[in-house]
Amino acid sequence: MSGPVALSDIPVTQLNGVAARLAERLATLHIHTVQDLLFHLPLRYQDRTQIASIGRVRLGDDVMLEAEILSCDIDFGRRRSLVCRIKDAGGIISLRFFHFSAAQKKMLAPGNVLRCYGEIRSGKNGYELYHPEYQVLKPGEIAPVADRLTPIYPATEGLQQTRLRKLIDQALALLQSPESLPDWIPASVLNRVAFPGLADALQYLHHPPVQAPVTQLLNGEHPAQQRLAFEELLSHRLCLRRLRQQSAQHHAPLMAAHSDLGQAFRQQLPFALTRAQTRVSNEISHDLGLEQPMLRLLQGDVGSGKTVVAALAALQAVDSGYQAVIMAPTEILAEQHHVNFTQWLAPLGLQPGWLSGKVKGRQRQQTLQGLRDGSSKIAVGTHALFQEGVEFSNLGLIIIDEQHRFGVHQRLALREKGNTGMTIPHQLVMTATPIPRTLAMSAYADLDCSVLDELPPGRTPVNTVIISNERRDEVIARIHQACLQGNQAYWVCTLIDESEALQAQAAEATLAALQTQLPDLAIGLVHGRMKATEKSAVMAAFKKGELHLLIATTVIEVGVDVPNASLMIIENPERLGLAQLHQLRGRVGRGAKASHCLLLYQTPLSQLGKQRLGIMRDSNDGFYIAEQDLAIRGPGQVLGTRQTGLMSFRIADLARDAALLDPVKSAADTIEHDYPSHIDPLVNRWLGDRELYGNV
Ligand code: ADP
Ligand code: MG
Repeated sequence: MSGPVALSDIPVTQLNGVAARLAERLATLHIHTVQDLLFHLPLRYQDRTQIASIGRVRLGDDVMLEAEILSCDIDFGRRRSLVCRIKDAGGIISLRFFHFSAAQKKMLAPGNVLRCYGEIRSGKNGYELYHPEYQVLKPGEIAPVADRLTPIYPATEGLQQTRLRKLIDQALALLQSPESLPDWIPASVLNRVAFPGLADALQYLHHPPVQAPVTQLLNGEHPAQQRLAFEELLSHRLCLRRLRQQSAQHHAPLMAAHSDLGQAFRQQLPFALTRAQTRVSNEISHDLGLEQPMLRLLQGDVGSGKTVVAALAALQAVDSGYQAVIMAPTEILAEQHHVNFTQWLAPLGLQPGWLSGKVKGRQRQQTLQGLRDGSSKIAVGTHALFQEGVEFSNLGLIIIDEQHRFGVHQRLALREKGNTGMTIPHQLVMTATPIPRTLAMSAYADLDCSVLDELPPGRTPVNTVIISNERRDEVIARIHQACLQGNQAYWVCTLIDESEALQAQAAEATLAALQTQLPDLAIGLVHGRMKATEKSAVMAAFKKGELHLLIATTVIEVGVDVPNASLMIIENPERLGLAQLHQLRGRVGRGAKASHCLLLYQTPLSQLGKQRLGIMRDSNDGFYIAEQDLAIRGPGQVLGTRQTGLMSFRIADLARDAALLDPVKSAADTIEHDYPSHIDPLVNRWLGDRELYGNV
């Protein structure tokens, strides 16, 4: 190769040892190019510069141990595992492997000395390390200790830390010239905010020196991280603006605000709209009457009644002679909407079409025909709606529920189906992910946003209780009782920073344990590694009341409605963000029954953890919770929290980085004005194949 090539143009497959399979795994982490690898930043760091003593380790510590193997046996417990007991001068501890091979067992022979690294967890027999990284030392071998902090990366199934580290080191080695990784933030802007250059920041974060300020790094407050957060926020802002400018150049079908169908619909509803629903419907109605395509985000807490608002918008489209579609991310959610719409629209003489992957044969042909010839005015469905072969007669409005489950491409594919060359459809995207208003205002000032800030009357708020894991048996007894009385319950297993595989494993282990303890209950399981069809079969069984108890990972967080489910147990709630907890909890409290949510925390719970869970106990208001969470977010919170929904950033955190928003805004102005050619590369670097808000 002559001259340096931009790392964004080098696919990972050009690195040593990256074959198709590994490339696929990297792709699941959104890593396609060498540049992507460099932006795959550590979640945390381990200190492998010192060997810890087994006698002194504490729960949650990340440690490096060096010890002799005492025994290595298969434990045929609930779930088969390999347990290796090791001993140093200070004590004995166990390593546990759920996936292991005969060769591995042979290597871990008693008498061998081993170096291992991992997090101290509480296990069956005291402290344990699960799937630690390890190396068996040769007799007499003195393995060197690290001279820098060791990065721990977000990983995925079948992609080990050591592998990732080696790949990232290869990427860092290619980072020799400014051309290989251009810094698209002009020096004048960088100087204004006093942040380090891009290459320096990345070098530092992948390999911080031993004396690096670890707490600051863990909190994401190091200037090297802040620089990247700044760049990320900047890219988002530039992208958002650009997409909106593009969209504003299109025309959209005009839909008169007065809708007879809408009026008839309101009259036959068994309830009156809330004030918030009326206000938001008016906002939408106004947009639909404009020549510019609507791009409106509708935020509303779980249960705030977004579906009715969607129906009113759809009817305005129909009344003006256009078709409307409602798309939901899962079969179950879409089906729920279809049932609702069918019920609501029947008195108006309308029958919504239904399209999902499951709809086959003649039924499918009929639906497609109706959409094509325009006899079907409203369609409800899943991803199937934007696939090839689906044609609309005159699609005027697209409504997307729980938009963060869709990618931009999917949404645009649907929009294209309504592109007449003259006009594109209006879009309404709905989400239950609350964004604190203050942040939404400053971060996304450009965005049209409606908020349903009121729940329909007559809801019984979910009663939330915080309980220590030490009282697990009591909790199980309570579930038993509740289920025997005809209630249904969710049991949510949470793990963070872990692969889907470990999540699924934890859920399977919980299933096995609960099945033993509650043999007379019908218990189901859903997790992210199951096939979509398997998942929906289990969910459907739960919905029908065939299961008492549903064990689940956080996959169930989105809008499923099982009114009879009135009890939810969430394990390790302290590990989740409050917004996510609130989403999860929103699965109960949907019927008339009093509902309960038990937050089963792991002891010891930090002061901050207590305070956060206290907010959950004391409030059922998603926006309030999001705002409080923001106010008390403290050290250690940030990196551990998976951000969900709308604000999905890799590095930036709107709560932590709120102070960057103003400088980001003025930097965006500078770049748009003086360096417009920097916009594309910046946006590609940070957003690439990722979805962006879904609303533009
Ligand atoms: P979400 O905003 O979470 O999607 P839904 O649209 O599913 O909420 O509404 C939740 C429930 O509240 C539904 O059963 C719906 O029929 C009901 N609902 C909606 N609006 C009202 C209202 N104004 N008064 C009473 N019940 C309502
Ligand atoms: Mg909903």
